[in-house]
Amino acid sequence: MTCLKPEGAAPGATGPGGLDFNPFDTMEPRAPDATPSPLRNGGRVKGNDVAPAGVYLPNNNILTPHMRSPDYVQMSTAAAITLGIMSGKMYRCACTRCLNLLLTYPEGCRANCAYCGLARHREADRDYADRNFIRVDWPAVPMERIVEIVANDGAATPFHRMCISMITHPRSEDDTFTVLKSWTDRIDPETVPVSILSNPTTMSRADVARLHGMGADIFTVALDAATPEIFDRTRGKGVQSPHNWRKYWEILLDAKDIFGPQKFGAHIIVGMGETEHDVLTLVQRLVDLGGHSHMFCFFPERGSLMDHLPATPRDQWRRVQLGRYLIDYCDARVERMRFDDCGRVTDFGLPQAELDAIVDSGIAFRTSGCPGKFRDDVSACDRPYGDSPPSDIASYPFQPAAADLRRIRHQLDMEKPGEAYEEGEELELEDEPAANGTAPRS
Ligand code: SF4
Repeated sequence: MTCLKPEGAAPGATGPGGLDFNPFDTMEPRAPDATPSPLRNGGRVKGNDVAPAGVYLPNNNILTPHMRSPDYVQMSTAAAITLGIMSGKMYRCACTRCLNLLLTYPEGCRANCAYCGLARHREADRDYADRNFIRVDWPAVPMERIVEIVANDGAATPFHRMCISMITHPRSEDDTFTVLKSWTDRIDPETVPVSILSNPTTMSRADVARLHGMGADIFTVALDAATPEIFDRTRGKGVQSPHNWRKYWEILLDAKDIFGPQKFGAHIIVGMGETEHDVLTLVQRLVDLGGHSHMFCFFPERGSLMDHLPATPRDQWRRVQLGRYLIDYCDARVERMRFDDCGRVTDFGLPQAELDAIVDSGIAFRTSGCPGKFRDDVSACDRPYGDSPPSDIASYPFQPAAADLRRIRHQLDMEKPGEAYEEGEELELEDEPAANGTAPRS
């Protein structure tokens, strides 16, 4: 048995060493460097102690003003453009439907996850609010100002959901409660429901219950790694980081009890060394518990401990993306799928006509996450270009057009007769994108 890509498959989509997936041995993070003690715990920021001055737009290695949650939060570039805090436009997207808010502190996140741009090891060379995260900058904005804008928009708000992303910090729980309260005091959670992207390491079951009692709608756990070994290597002892697989599952199961069916889930990053069978087995476990999986495709984040490693080959990603959608929304089961010796999907366990209809609908290939207001299987959280450049989209932040679907079928080795994909044809649908998918508004 060989794990090489089958002959005749999509050129340009091959992974390391001619493989069509990222194997465990390849995906080893580098070790973090030691940080000089004056630079630890946000030392440079605190030493400078500049007073906050409204919205802070990240810039390279400029000492960051002293801003911290709950008064300040950071938000994705897409959310800032949609909110009108920043000018710009996004490649093939009018706006994002999810207002992603990230707690923020001069000390930054105290964890050291190997794939993450916010990780602690970066404090030597980049201040916390200047760090790129899922490929983009995250401006820091006063919470009061955000609430004011969304409250004034009322039912006309473009946002279908707000999400508070906790980072690893001793104040993370208390400040999440405060940010949630300042939101629900002014904004009806029926109009814009709230999700919590949690940090289980510092949380208790009582914290989960309190967030539910305060009106949070969905609770998710960023498991990220699909197996305990990969978790430990990328988020635990392997990189001097405090996270623990067992604790993450403890809080995930608390969320299942407290938030109930369809109201909890886990984030998973595909392509960090797990097999397709590993990740789809995890997806099935989550569905059997009553939850959902939200998936990212691994991308080597600049400045992270995995920035030297290959992005997930598109063929591996598309197979997992399709398999996950079938399990989450189409009553398929992992036991009915077939896998080869390398754990790759060889058969999705559905009649070809049924599979064709699902592929053609395109929804399986859109960004996954908590639902918005369109339909349950279309995420509010579209995170444009968070897991790929727009020139080689992994998760589509919009409904794929016919040219996108031809490319997806090409990557899946499922091209229809007479409908071959021509390299780059979908890029002609709009002007050349910037590398992170944004451009100044003209
Ligand atoms: S806990 Fe979250 S924010 Fe902190 S380093 Fe890990 S992935 Fe990044």
